Amino acid sequence: MSPVISPIETKRKVSLPSDQQADGRTLGSDEMEAVCQAIKSGTLTSTKGEYVKQLEQGFATRLGSPHCYASSSGTAALHVAFAAINPEPGDEIITTPITDMGALTPILYQGAIPVFADVDYRSCNVTADTIAARLSPRTKAIVVTHLFGNPCDLNPIMELARARSIPVIEDCAQAFDAKYQGKAVGTIGDIGCFSLQQGKHITTGEGGLTVTRDDEFARHIYLFINKAWGYGDPKPDHYFLALNYRMNELTGAVGLAQLGKLDYSVANRIAMADLLNAKLQGLDGIEVPKPVPGATHTYWKYCLTIDPKVISGGAVGLAAKLKERGIFSAPRYIQKPAFACEVFVNQRTFGNSRFPFTLARPEAVDYRSELFPGTFQGLERILVLPWNENYTELHANFLADAIRECAR
Ligand SMILES: *Cc1c(COP(=O)(O)O)cnc(C)c1O
Repeated sequence: MSPVISPIETKRKVSLPSDQQADGRTLGSDEMEAVCQAIKSGTLTSTKGEYVKQLEQGFATRLGSPHCYASSSGTAALHVAFAAINPEPGDEIITTPITDMGALTPILYQGAIPVFADVDYRSCNVTADTIAARLSPRTKAIVVTHLFGNPCDLNPIMELARARSIPVIEDCAQAFDAKYQGKAVGTIGDIGCFSLQQGKHITTGEGGLTVTRDDEFARHIYLFINKAWGYGDPKPDHYFLALNYRMNELTGAVGLAQLGKLDYSVANRIAMADLLNAKLQGLDGIEVPKPVPGATHTYWKYCLTIDPKVISGGAVGLAAKLKERGIFSAPRYIQKPAFACEVFVNQRTFGNSRFPFTLARPEAVDYRSELFPGTFQGLERILVLPWNENYTELHANFLADAIRECAR
């Protein structure tokens, strides 16, 4: 029989593992061994070494994607995707206002305009309808971000995009191993981008992976990572404007070891989320995550939707009560939509040029809040709980009990 623990004792005894340190990560002897081998080999550049290549091949095989390229960050993994799309200056790329800035600034670096689509307030994901409302003759690509590991409703989005021959980029930075109707996210659109940053499902501290089935995109991505130098070509040259976005072998070694732990990370996150879902059923004013039919959520974070009419103080009030119990949740996730950040509001880009905003249609940079009801409602209601793969039943129960008591 398990001992009876009073709520006060629970409060003192349970400390949640953190993805910012060892107890909330899967880093260990496999990674150390791999890094040692990389160092002993004396080859730390991926142009000559084997670790980054093995990571790329391993991830491509896992996803059943013909091409995978590693890079230095999730931001880089997205930048290479936008580069492969090769927009003309002023072309538009439809994306979401609830995302990481690293998914947006590369669009500006490629001379294109991020055009924000509203989101569904429950999932905080873009939908076919919100994307359709922002289409224009200048739309060059659509970004879908599977926020928190919860897949967007891709079928209607792909239908919309295919009908207009617009490529779809999936931002899977938070959605390793998430599935939509049995298919891995990242392989349903034209290009899929992943991040290996400290807090993601698996990590190398910083790092990124980009997958595609399209041979031309793949060639462009490879070149963009490598200063557009045509390694192995009969007459190599620097073919176009590009950067060095290569992942190094030390990172590749850690990434390869981490890839072996992705099954564990995803399975445990789902198992503990299922437990929490069950424990929080039927709580008035609190909704648990609800993926669209046929989708598998892989819980980068576990988010609740809080009804401020029922829960006093709404998400912010609930977060304050949870904090008293040592649970540091994030109401609003990001404090404001991305378009409310200075880079967009003041159009601060290259010198005082405001380029590429100078080329934008006025409608493309119209950030009035009435155009984004789902975004504002979503941010107001969302409560992001701390979460990682090393949660046990103890942690899930601790969270469930605390939420139940605080929601009263
Ligand atoms: C983390 C993240 C990124 C950026 O990845 P970095 O590795 O931090 O550069 C992009 N998009 C989303 C949705 C993310 O969560």
